[in-house]
Parts: sequence; C-alpha cells; structure tokens
Amino acid sequence: MPDPVPSAGQLLVRVHAAGVNPVDTYIRSGAYANLPELPYTPGMEAAGVIESTGQRVFLSGTLTGAYAEVALCAAHQVHPLPDHLGFTQGAAIYAAYATAYRALFQRARARAGEMVLIHGASGGVGIAAVQLAIAAGMRVIGTAGSERGMQLVRDQGAHEVRDHRASDHLDGVSADVIVEMLANVNLGRDLRALARGGRVVVVGSRGNVEITPRDLMQRDGVVLGVMLGNATREEIGAIHSALAAGLAGGSLRPVVGREFPLADAAKAHEAVMSPGAHGKIVLVLRE
Ligand code: NAP
Repeated sequence: MPDPVPSAGQLLVRVHAAGVNPVDTYIRSGAYANLPELPYTPGMEAAGVIESTGQRVFLSGTLTGAYAEVALCAAHQVHPLPDHLGFTQGAAIYAAYATAYRALFQRARARAGEMVLIHGASGGVGIAAVQLAIAAGMRVIGTAGSERGMQLVRDQGAHEVRDHRASDHLDGVSADVIVEMLANVNLGRDLRALARGGRVVVVGSRGNVEITPRDLMQRDGVVLGVMLGNATREEIGAIHSALAAGLAGGSLRPVVGREFPLADAAKAHEAVMSPGAHGKIVLVLRE
C-alpha cells in the first residue's frame, strides 16, 4: 500500500517495533465490544523514527495501526524515546505502563507504605505495576505461573513472589491493593486476601466469577474496574509525565520477553494468549 500522507497536526512514523497486546487478539478474533471497520491494521503501540525529522519516538496509539512499516499518528500519540532504550523496549511502554499507572494511582489510590499484590506480575502490565509500586515505596507481592516468570518478578525487586498455579498461594496475604489480571479466576479469593479498607482493581478478566459479598463487607473493601481508554486527556497527560520521569530515572525498565518478525504476527498472537509470560511480546520490523 502507498505510505499515508500526514495532514496538519499529524506525523508519519517509520515503525521499528510494535507491541503485541492481548486486546489485539480480542479485536482480531472479533471478540471485542468495539470492533473497528475493515480493512484494519492491528496494533496500538510501537516505537520508531519520525520520517520528517529522524527523531526516535514511542507511540501511545496510531491512526492507521502499528503492525505496519509506517504509521500515521496524531501529534499527541508521539513521545520522545529516551536514548538508553531500544526500539523494542519503546514498543513495550505505553499499554503496560499506562495501564499499570492508572490502575495503581488513578483508580486504587495506592500510597507509599501500602502492601500491594500484583496478581499476574510476569506479563506486560504486571511487570510495569511491580516497578511502579516499588518506586513509589510500596511493599510488593508478585505472582507468576512459571519458574521463569517468578524469577523475572523477583528480578524486578518484588519483596515476595508466589506461584498463582498453587491453590493456597494467597494464604496469609493481607493486601491494601490487589492489581488483578485474571478476575474471572481470582476475584472471589482476592476479597478474602484484602486488608481492611483494601481495594481490588480489575485490569483483566476473561469470563464470569462468583464472589461472596460478605467478604467485602467485613473488610470495608472496594472492587474497582480500570480501562485505559476511559482516561481523560488530563489523566493521560499526568500518566505521560510520570512515565517520562520513571523512564529517565531508571526505575521503569521495559522488559521484552519475546520478539517475532512481522510475518509471524499470528504466532505472536498465540504466544500472548499462552501461559508462561515473561515480559512483553514485540514484533520487530527493522533494527
Ligand atoms: P500478558 O503480558 O499476556 O500477561 C498476562 C499475565 O496474566 C501473566 O503475568 C500471567 O502469568 C497472568 N496470569 C495467568 N494466569 C493467571 C492466574 N490464574 N492468576 C493471576 N494471573 C494470571 O498480558 P498483559 O498485557 O499484562 O495484560 C494482562 C491483562 O490485562 C489481559 O487480560 C489484558 O487484556 C488486560 N489489559 C487491560 C487493560 C485495561 O485497560 N483494563 C489494559 C491492558 C491490558 P503467567 O503467564 O506467568 O501464568
């Protein structure tokens, strides 16, 4: 296809790497509430170079899709990529870190000194949540479902790591905040692992779940939902300011677990929905 031509307020970005997210698979398979019109190019985040200036950037969205050699972007979707980060890391920033930031701070109002359980800490959003929570002075328990995933969570500085495949893995947990990646499996048990005044923030869910409301009542507990797409322009601005500071200071270090060429996007979609996460999955278009 011919390269898109930017109008006023738009930029053309040559894509070096594109992030793969579970939502890409929900949209591709038709299992998503807001389906785009066809033809459609998948992908909501990437990193590359502005065609007209040569500046290295990461993208928090595109107008034309990120799984492509070039992406047309609105100016507000384009952000400077710090020199010390590679393009694959740049493609792993937005969805993971912005969602984790919104979940922890804008929704759950997590504070320094609180105990945070990151339920599903080995994936993109989970690793970002561990790094953000530690940098903000929280105590962190992270869970993963493989030895490799648990080691990765430990390497991010989590104070404690548990295996969410074990049925008793929440024994003894009293968390002020639970960041939940798979609510349909865990929400019922999460409520019993909350401290008084605790908040569960639901980031991911793939089905229904039964809860015991009394577990919530006994703890003055709260269950919150989060959807990054609901953030206002002001909230997105605050998120970018916080992420820029954390990336520059080194407390936020995007972790790329697997890379695929663009031609293997289908394999990347299978991988992102398979167990054994260890960081983000990224499509590499050029070095
Ligand atoms: P990902 O990189 O594929 O990670 C998935 C995570 O879920 C892994 O850490 C995985 O651990 C964990 N997991 C698997 N089974 C689990 C269980 N029984 N209990 C707890 N965790 C479990 O995906 P992601 O990009 O981090 O996204 C995570 C979820 O958030 C997805 O459902 C995604 O759709 C959703 N999401 C929501 C928003 C929003 O705005 N609400 C934004 C971005 C993502 P193991 O593989 O080690 O078992």
